[in-house]
Amino acid sequence: MLRGETPALRLALRDVAANFLHLVFPTPCHVCQRPLDLARRSALCRDCWDALERMPEAGCQRCGWPFPAAAGARGTEQPLCQRCRETRDDFEMARAALRYRDGGIARAAILLCKHGGRFALLQHLATLLAEEASAELMGRVWQAVVPVPLHWLRRWRRGFNQADVLARAVGRRHGLPVERGSLIRVRATPPQQGDVAARRRNVREAFAVRRTQRIVGRRLLLVDDVFTTGATANACTAALLSAGASAVGVLTLARVE
Ligand SMILES: [Zn+2]
Ligand SMILES: [Zn+2]
Repeated sequence: MLRGETPALRLALRDVAANFLHLVFPTPCHVCQRPLDLARRSALCRDCWDALERMPEAGCQRCGWPFPAAAGARGTEQPLCQRCRETRDDFEMARAALRYRDGGIARAAILLCKHGGRFALLQHLATLLAEEASAELMGRVWQAVVPVPLHWLRRWRRGFNQADVLARAVGRRHGLPVERGSLIRVRATPPQQGDVAARRRNVREAFAVRRTQRIVGRRLLLVDDVFTTGATANACTAALLSAGASAVGVLTLARVE
């Protein structure tokens, strides 16, 4: 009788200990700083988690951007947004899980990961990306996930590459190998800013492929944290295609408005 109760008792004691620790050292929500509730094993409070704005499924056929004319359309009838009518993209399709806008929770959370080193928060966002990745994009055949690389110096300073963490979660959830080290950043480019042309100039020739035998003939899913104008995604895609990849899709945690 007593033996049967022991595991439950042990678990209860563990919970009491965890709750006591939480009362003495309350963990605040990484974004709004309000204390997290006891039952929540996350880096964000319920309110902030719910306030992360998801991208709707209906949108531009190429980049996924939601625009009014796309709302009623389906499949191949989906029209292209203004960006895609004016831009020549190398990638096949791009989708994002969250909307990234000034004052939004997604932006606050991603900046905390990037510049505040919040690794636990990044892991929660990576799980969200893996679980809520667009069915339209994930329904296509991909053979490997490729994280957008950071220059080694920046990676060393930050301690991790956000895109690596995101790519690993996507690979695990969707049963795809993560191809790291084939796509490399050969120039440490200044942070992306300015218009499309300036961003394209900034990343032109920033990427290169080594170990091309792992790229040739493969359909690759490129993963990054934020899609802004698509300049980085296109530069990576161009490098992968010229090394022999057969197609590149793009999945990002968030998309800038
Ligand atoms: Zn919060
Ligand atoms: Zn578009």
